[in-house]
Amino acid sequence: MKYRYTLNIDKERCKGCGICISLCPRDVLEFEEYLNEGGNHPVRLTGNECIGCRACVIMCPDIAIELVREDINESTYAR
Ligand code: SF4
Ligand code: SF4
Repeated sequence: MKYRYTLNIDKERCKGCGICISLCPRDVLEFEEYLNEGGNHPVRLTGNECIGCRACVIMCPDIAIELVREDINESTYAR
């Protein structure tokens, strides 16, 4: 079974502290251009290189990140 990882980020809960950006081993997090209602630039996930290590999930002081694991169904490929 192969997996692909993505994140659910609560953009209004995010305080824009940048801890997750500095900790991510794959450098796949960055700030949004816009400001949320709290006046902060929330974080977004870029690309497809998240390895699901959960560092961002565990270290976010505002519990704004949730990891989502999707199964990649290989049975759709020809054998
Ligand atoms: S789970 Fe790990 S690899 Fe994925 S965005 Fe968070 S810190 Fe980066
Ligand atoms: S650690 Fe949490 S609050 Fe800080 S920038 Fe990342 S998602 Fe936002």
